[in-house]
Amino acid sequence: MIDLHTHLHPPRLFAAIRRWFAERSTWKLDHQPSEPADVAAVLRAHGVERFVFCSYAHRVGMARELNAWLAATSRELGGYGLPLATVHLDDSAYLDDFETALDDGCIGIKIHEDVQRLHVEDPRFDPIYERLGERGFVLAHVGPIPWSEDLDAPRRVERVLQRHPGLRFVVAHMGGEIVSKYVALLARYPNLYLDTTMAFASESPMTLEIDPSVIEEHADRIVYGTDFPNVPYSYDAELRAIDALGLSAASRNAIVRENALRLIGAKESP
Ligand SMILES: [Zn+2]
Repeated sequence: MIDLHTHLHPPRLFAAIRRWFAERSTWKLDHQPSEPADVAAVLRAHGVERFVFCSYAHRVGMARELNAWLAATSRELGGYGLPLATVHLDDSAYLDDFETALDDGCIGIKIHEDVQRLHVEDPRFDPIYERLGERGFVLAHVGPIPWSEDLDAPRRVERVLQRHPGLRFVVAHMGGEIVSKYVALLARYPNLYLDTTMAFASESPMTLEIDPSVIEEHADRIVYGTDFPNVPYSYDAELRAIDALGLSAASRNAIVRENALRLIGAKESP
């Protein structure tokens, strides 16, 4: 099992994120770990063989240091967790920041449109999408999920994929409430993926109603992710809900492992 969407942040940023949720949401996150080793221990205990983690630069001037922390944290975890880079488009050297992050072991980029106040189709991302080419991947939180809907969000993703057909692009949270619009894109864009993050767990504040036959049909492009440890429920809730869908063994395996192996480059487990 591989978890393609988790979060690790430096202590101060993590504390700020926890405060944000405590003050502005009903999500209870206090009991969840935040130290990288503690988060990794929970994942290991649940049979996760590899995980991908990310943070995000929401302000100018923080991406470079954040990427260095992410890469160092991956090394401290012995490569068990693999980092995604972050950039801030208003940093004059953001392309340099990205290149440095790749050199340092980051395997792709995380974009959070809402937190970073930008759009995935911002032309300043084009050199980054070109640079990734057919390796690595983009993990993107598109639109203000779960706080509101953005009906133009799938069109932004589509325009990125039209400009960069080889780019592997993962839309987080199954795209949210407008999941059917993303599902409709899967047939036309073979490098588009949707991650399961918070979309299935019955305890999740953003569970979606998706017919299991849709999941079965598109199992080659749906990939397991959780948002752990920033979820107000136990780690196994997402997996239990996926198992309850009654998928074929091949489809379940594609979702919880094989698709992610393709995206992370099938590196051997440490
Ligand atoms: Zn996330």
